[in-house]
Amino acid sequence: MAQTERSPVAAPSTGDAGTEGDGFRARQTRRRPLSVAVVGSTGSIGTSTLEVIAGSAGRFGCHLLAAHRSVDRLLEQARRFRPAWMVVVDETAAAGLSSADLPPGTRLAVGARCLDELLAAPEVDRVVSAIVGAAGLRSTWAALDAGKTVALANKETLVAAGQLMTRLAARRNAALLPVDSEHAAIHQALRAGAPHEVRRLILTASGGPFRGQSAATLAAVTPAAALKHPTWSMGPKITVDSATMMNKALELIEARWLFDIPAEKLEVVVHPQSVVHSLVEFVDGSVIAQLGPPDMKMPIQYALAYPERFPGPAKRLDLTAPLALHFEPADPERFPAVGLGLEAAARGGTAGAALNAGNEVAVGAFLAGRLPFTEIAGLAGRALREHPYQADPTLDDIHRLDAWARQEVAQWMSS
Ligand code: NAD
Ligand code: MG
Repeated sequence: MAQTERSPVAAPSTGDAGTEGDGFRARQTRRRPLSVAVVGSTGSIGTSTLEVIAGSAGRFGCHLLAAHRSVDRLLEQARRFRPAWMVVVDETAAAGLSSADLPPGTRLAVGARCLDELLAAPEVDRVVSAIVGAAGLRSTWAALDAGKTVALANKETLVAAGQLMTRLAARRNAALLPVDSEHAAIHQALRAGAPHEVRRLILTASGGPFRGQSAATLAAVTPAAALKHPTWSMGPKITVDSATMMNKALELIEARWLFDIPAEKLEVVVHPQSVVHSLVEFVDGSVIAQLGPPDMKMPIQYALAYPERFPGPAKRLDLTAPLALHFEPADPERFPAVGLGLEAAARGGTAGAALNAGNEVAVGAFLAGRLPFTEIAGLAGRALREHPYQADPTLDDIHRLDAWARQEVAQWMSS
């Protein structure tokens, strides 16, 4: 385990904030609320983040709300949370807006460049990166470049550009805190031992809605069926990723960079109840897990409050009723995505970006009814195999590769 001195991931600690970066020290002495920028506020994670802010008894305040096109939703949120800034990234969607629509004290900004600049402002204490897909890279980069502490939900950032993002964060004395429930669980479990004592990280997977189904029935799966997750309520893209188990593939790559751990120390176990959020096995055989009901408000609050803890609005585990926990291995035949994730985590470089871009295009086509469910992983895997691999890409290389993969996969689908 390499929670090295230069690691940009906030090292799991027992609460000695004095050993953390500036953002953590500032929190200890601050009387004003921690000022939060929520990027992707209208989505599933964004909405849960606002519930956490609302339930924080004034510990967190909302400085900025940003979304892509859902202007009405964004306005509703701005009226309730009164941020200093409301940012609409899509210029066409913002065309009908005027400052008269905004609540007093909130200003409007439009476009991705404005968002980048606003995230760098000194008033921003923490940035919640909750855009979906590779579109989230840009604002995460801007926040890290400005030395901010980023609560990272947008796993695609680390999947596509993990090496670059973690290097940038280290250079700028910025910090990354995981919002993804598995990584938040691992971050907490790692507090039980020293980095060199870690044997493996075990990510749990619900197995999605088709866990027990045969390969033949999987071929006929509809978007409506794939969008019905048994335990989590999430945005459409990650819900489909959970059904194919590509979500676990992306999370393996995310863990590889977040915890600077080699792919051979990463494992996946299927756990349909989504109560054990992940586990860490130490060299002596001891396994430490983090438990809680499936509710993203828990890891969101952890990432916002770290290194502190206080009561919040997340659901609590009820152990007065019977609770059975089941674990089983993932089936590589029916769910080949997990193997692709391990492969991309081991290869590094552009591998994650290729797999991710291929998957994004394939998921879009599946949701539009143009691609069978069982072909999603195949197309993403082909993008991984056939892309022009680079071991140490720049951010421009990643963007070029992303565009290449999107174009190729679209072509493969049409031919
Ligand atoms: P979602 O589809 O519900 O919301 C996406 C948000 O991103 C919206 O606010 C949308 O306006 C914004 N957005 C999309 N494209 C944008 C662009 N180009 N520019 C600016 N904003 C843009 O997605 P979600 O389920 O909340 O997931 C967000 C991220 O969090 C994903 O990376 C997902 O993998 C990750 N995540 C989600 C969950 C969950 O429970 N939903 C759990 C773990 C991780
Ligand atoms: Mg997750």
